[in-house]
Amino acid sequence: MTDSAARTVTGASIRLDGVVKHYRGQDKPAVKKLDLDITAGDIVAFVGPSGCGKTTTLKMINRLIEPTEGRILIGERDVTGENPDTLRQSVGYVIQSGGLFPHWSVARNVGAIPRVLGWDTKRIAERTDYLLDLVGLDPAVFRDRLPKDMSGGQQQRVGVARALAADPPVLLMDEPFGAVDPITRLRLQDELIAIQHELGKTIVIVTHDFEEATKLGDKVLVLSEGGHVEQYATPAEILADPATPFVSEFVGSGATLAHLTLSRVKDVEHDAVVIARVGDSSDEVIGRAMAAGATWVVVVDDDGRGLSWPSLDEVATKPRVSDYVDARLPTVAPSSTLNDALDTMLAASQGGVLVTDGRGAVTGALTIATVMAVIRDQLSDARADGSTYVAHAAGEQA
Ligand code: ADP
Ligand code: MG
Repeated sequence: MTDSAARTVTGASIRLDGVVKHYRGQDKPAVKKLDLDITAGDIVAFVGPSGCGKTTTLKMINRLIEPTEGRILIGERDVTGENPDTLRQSVGYVIQSGGLFPHWSVARNVGAIPRVLGWDTKRIAERTDYLLDLVGLDPAVFRDRLPKDMSGGQQQRVGVARALAADPPVLLMDEPFGAVDPITRLRLQDELIAIQHELGKTIVIVTHDFEEATKLGDKVLVLSEGGHVEQYATPAEILADPATPFVSEFVGSGATLAHLTLSRVKDVEHDAVVIARVGDSSDEVIGRAMAAGATWVVVVDDDGRGLSWPSLDEVATKPRVSDYVDARLPTVAPSSTLNDALDTMLAASQGGVLVTDGRGAVTGALTIATVMAVIRDQLSDARADGSTYVAHAAGEQA
């Protein structure tokens, strides 16, 4: 990331040094020989087809799977000789669906490792509330819930809170967002980026989705069968210059869309929104909106978080702004990609999305027209590049 200098880094570097995994009873090694350096505080996404060795590699880092050969270092520590239980207390691990114990409350799940580490009750409770808030769950509402009474996205948030409980320098995630619906998935990705910016952990995330990898990864590791490194580079480098035919093909038809994942909501100009509060006079709000040329207003709570996004016609049906809460309010974060924004818009009726800051307060809106204009620009830039290339090639021939 270009802004890494400005970020807090509490993560540790990870180094894989000639790591091999040969499962018993298998002819070919699952991971042939892997060398890899991960910078402290980066998010690195492992991506590649099913069976290429992503999970095996990830699980060797916390020794859920023992390497057959090679060394793994976290920071300066060679963890290949370390007690695996101790190691796992210092490496957070998140799996699909959160991997929570269904009969334990959220608080008990989150506090599992701190309890093993012998923290006192008060410290565990404070840490649990801090982490629930960090992952966007109100502690008062959720700390005593059972995972089985929560949505997939909420369980996944608790899974992340639990993995962070003992403040580990490294977080490993194996297809963490594979089991949630597409819109929740986008939100969870944005939340992970926000958490990463706040905490500066080193995060390794396995995915089979190239778009997810380019969105989340400071660097992306493209693997082929046998844990073979096809390319290890930033998303922009991989898209601009695939190292091998395998990478080109893997990136393939998704390339145009993946380019859209390189443009973030924060990189484009947002439209101003007209803000209203519950109980405001409808006439006053409509007057303000008309003066601003707006046909919609955003109703927010005391923290500036969006409650609803009614049209002026809807506002006009009541004398005062109603306290209606739209559970499907389309929102995106500054770190969301334009592709996410487009997906979110297409699922909404307002023809746009609200942009929120790190704490969820509404700061503006993006319309389909804005996003389409950016896409058009990018496509014409891409075409211009193409024609330069053709002209150049023709020039060489002449
Ligand atoms: P990925 O996560 O990329 O889909 P895996 O790391 O799970 O790939 O698997 C890599 C290869 O190792 C596959 O060929 C898989 O069948 C094999 N494999 C994975 N786990 C085991 C195991 N416990 N025993 C034997 N072979 C395994
Ligand atoms: Mg896997």
